[in-house]
Amino acid sequence: MSIKTDVVIIGAGPCGLFQVFELGLLGIHAHVVDTLPEIGGQCAALYPDKPIYDIPALPVVGASELVERLAEQIRPFEPDLHLGEMVVKLEREPDGAFTLETSGGTRFLTRAVVIAGGLGSFRPRPLRTPGVNRYEGVNVDYKVLDKSRFRGKAVAVLGGGDSALDWALELAPSAKSLTLVHRREVFRAQPVSVERLRAMARAEPDRIRILIGRISGLIEEGDTLKGIEVDPFEKDAPKHAVRVDEVLVFYGLSPNLGPIAEWGLGVEKRQIPVDTEKFQTGVPGIFAIGDINTYPGKKKLILSGFHEAALVAFAVQKHLDPDARQFLQYTTTSPVMHERLGVTGELEQDAH
Ligand code: FAD
Repeated sequence: MSIKTDVVIIGAGPCGLFQVFELGLLGIHAHVVDTLPEIGGQCAALYPDKPIYDIPALPVVGASELVERLAEQIRPFEPDLHLGEMVVKLEREPDGAFTLETSGGTRFLTRAVVIAGGLGSFRPRPLRTPGVNRYEGVNVDYKVLDKSRFRGKAVAVLGGGDSALDWALELAPSAKSLTLVHRREVFRAQPVSVERLRAMARAEPDRIRILIGRISGLIEEGDTLKGIEVDPFEKDAPKHAVRVDEVLVFYGLSPNLGPIAEWGLGVEKRQIPVDTEKFQTGVPGIFAIGDINTYPGKKKLILSGFHEAALVAFAVQKHLDPDARQFLQYTTTSPVMHERLGVTGELEQDAH
């Protein structure tokens, strides 16, 4: 069964989210698909706590706050979000519509597609220790699906960011032992989380440890992973052999263009060429905005993606209904837009 719709937006980064808004103003509803389990793209995945200074009218806004504000702005348009699913297939039908399929098995039959895929899908950065791939999905994992699995086990958590520290703190009370391994003394995680784990390690040094060093090898018995070797940061210090039942790797996320490169859109240097009138790709009905597109003078800024989203909304409207009369309406004065935004007279009064 396919979901029939007018538009599917691939990517829920800032540009994909703003695309929902611009389409919504024109009365066009969108489905949005993102590989990540949460909205926000790079802002959420790579720099949630960093301040951004070049969003118009917001002298400074935290990256995660920007995402929250975008989510609030698009709420009236009730987009259907399909998170945690990667679009793996995009095919043109003989009548000009498109079939899309996701890794989660969702299928869409849509009349237009907006690719807001940024740098591509984010995937966990892998542990590169030779031989580790044999244990991935067995007792080496990149996410926690069921934390009860770690109860009473010897667990190693690798990484120094918020995910690593949050999971170390979460699992430590019920684990048999917990070892956090990070390659340097400085942590990217919130200092308060690091201090909490250090305090736990001071209180129970036999059960909870923080090791600073590099994973240099695996301890294997037959075809079972029994532990990891850690090369300490200090020169000439002996290696640590850490016996563990489970290894959790939180080395952050890295983008990978993935299936988008295979959709016949002339991808060059991981970017999709578009025109600057409609930001349409070489395939009528497929548009691309934000970091993923390229055209003369392109600058990979959120601001540029917002502008592109506004023009794409008009282009999508025309694509869906070539006879549609198009005219510019202001959100300040358009009763139709007020209705779509759910703006009441009362709120308008307040704004004066
Ligand atoms: P992204 O934010 O990359 O989102 C794309 C989304 O598409 C991702 O969530 C991805 O999972 C999803 N996706 C990709 N392929 C698929 C698929 N096949 N199926 C499903 N989902 C898919 N810009 C500024 O303007 N000002 C700044 O100050 C600024 N600071 C930055 C600081 C850092 C550290 C970084 C890394 C970037 C910064 N940027 C800044 C750049 C800004 O974050 C990007 O321009 C912006 O995120 C692009 O938005 P986007 O929506 O195009 O793509």
